[in-house]
Amino acid sequence: MSDTPQHEASNGESPLPEALRITSPTPLVDIGANLTHESFERDLEATLARATNANVTTLVITGADLEGATRAARLATRFSGLHATAGLHPHHASDWSGELEQSMRNLHQQDVVVAVGECGLDFHRNFSTPADQEHALEAQLALAAETGLPVFLHERDAGRRMLEILHEWRGRISDAVVHCFTGDKQTLHGYLDLDLHIGQTGWLSDERRGHHLREFVADIPGERLMVETDCPYLLPRNLPAKIKGRRHEPALLPWIVRELAHWRGESEAELAQQTTLTARRFFRLEEDAGK
Ligand SMILES: [Zn+2]
Repeated sequence: MSDTPQHEASNGESPLPEALRITSPTPLVDIGANLTHESFERDLEATLARATNANVTTLVITGADLEGATRAARLATRFSGLHATAGLHPHHASDWSGELEQSMRNLHQQDVVVAVGECGLDFHRNFSTPADQEHALEAQLALAAETGLPVFLHERDAGRRMLEILHEWRGRISDAVVHCFTGDKQTLHGYLDLDLHIGQTGWLSDERRGHHLREFVADIPGERLMVETDCPYLLPRNLPAKIKGRRHEPALLPWIVRELAHWRGESEAELAQQTTLTARRFFRLEEDAGK
């Protein structure tokens, strides 16, 4: 049992062992939290309370299909500090239709919806054909151009094609972030040259596939870098304690910031403050602190 009852107030059975409860020195924004995932159904409010205890005060909930985006927007309406994106993930790109486009357009009108997406290209899995993925991506870039909203992009093993498409669209969209960037140095610089933002997760602490990022993560200017858990996925692999169920959650974002700061050669506080500033500007968020 814990001797810090204030942490236990709303959840008697925290899945986070004491060793993993750290608090960010300044408020953080988790720009990619998949809180509509079924694994959060049981303990959503306790999850949000743990995030607050960790000083992760603002969350952007990812909406990756119509049902998910609708639920994300509804959640964001219920709790302060929450916002949502609305889009169609490349895995589901073959579902794109005129009717779906209109439903997404309606969601984008809501104040709590702060970006178009998650949309993009994923040639790693190709659950939808590359042609369908490109079609759905361009239709969503058009929606972003129409509304002026920034774009929340997903790209996996499709850097070259993504750069070509974004090059075409860059003048028409206000801003975009390539969330959970995992590509190579050349692709990173391609995105930065297009004046895009980059999202970083715990991927760089994955010794099987993420270590290459350590070598050039410092190339990302602070005013273009944002942080995210992508929870419940991508639990950092070098946490100092095990989590039952291995579910990632927003309260663990300070660990990602600590790791990133180390490889960028800057302080945790500096990086926390800078990424929060960048996220507030990018998503045009009101101050959530103190609510
Ligand atoms: Zn993604």
